[in-house]
Amino acid sequence: MMPSKAAPSRPDPLSYESLRQQILRRDGWRCQSCGAMSNLEVHHREFRSHSGSDSEENLITLCSGCHARAHL
Ligand SMILES: [Zn+2]
Ligand SMILES: [Zn+2]
Repeated sequence: MMPSKAAPSRPDPLSYESLRQQILRRDGWRCQSCGAMSNLEVHHREFRSHSGSDSEENLITLCSGCHARAHL
């Protein structure tokens, strides 16, 4: 199997988990804000309502600290 951005999938829990892993891999297992490599979480960017789906472009890897700040 090749990682591909070809197939938009429905955000069911199972595919969401694999999507999370895909985002973490894409971002090199680093917080995209500060570069931390622990306590990583996947954050939905602001325009979720625009496409209405959990596409890769809507997601970014953040550590828990930066993620908390992103939600302030
Ligand atoms: Zn961070
Ligand atoms: Zn978030």
